[in-house]
Amino acid sequence: AIDSIILTMEAVIYEKDLTLDYEIEPNLTVSGSSEQMKQVAMILLDNAIKYSNPQGTIQVTLKRHHGHIQLTVCNTGAGIPAEHLDKIFDRFYRVDSSRARKNGGYGLGLAIAKSIVEQHKGKISAKSVPNEKTTFVVQLD
Ligand code: ATP
Repeated sequence: AIDSIILTMEAVIYEKDLTLDYEIEPNLTVSGSSEQMKQVAMILLDNAIKYSNPQGTIQVTLKRHHGHIQLTVCNTGAGIPAEHLDKIFDRFYRVDSSRARKNGGYGLGLAIAKSIVEQHKGKISAKSVPNEKTTFVVQLD
């Protein structure tokens, strides 16, 4: 399923000249709604593309990790300053509204992703090295 999401975004990836690496373990299943989990992957990948620098790199992994299923989406780019990291999951929160505004969006994507992940009793978190890279980690049973 995640492969098909990547396919739908191929055009933008090409346009920004991004490199996409992915490591996807076959036959992983998550309990709950796969449509909703697809939406989470879509939100994270869409952000990775939007906030990546041109010629940047995006890495996606989906694998078993310490008995959980873990999805990570990492992109190179400006990143998120530490003081904003816990707020980006709030509704309508955007880090730099002038920079962010030209990328469209309302600041809802991550709030939706968080609510879906929590409904599935999972966890979502972000870490970022400013001016280097940002990584989102989703952990599910
Ligand atoms: P949309 O509602 O279309 O998703 P959005 O991208 O602004 O709009 P969120 O997905 O909720 O909303 O993201 C919130 C904010 O977090 C973004 O405005 C951006 O500032 C920051 N952000 C999210 N992902 C990244 C990323 N990969 N790199 C840098 N900043 C990010």
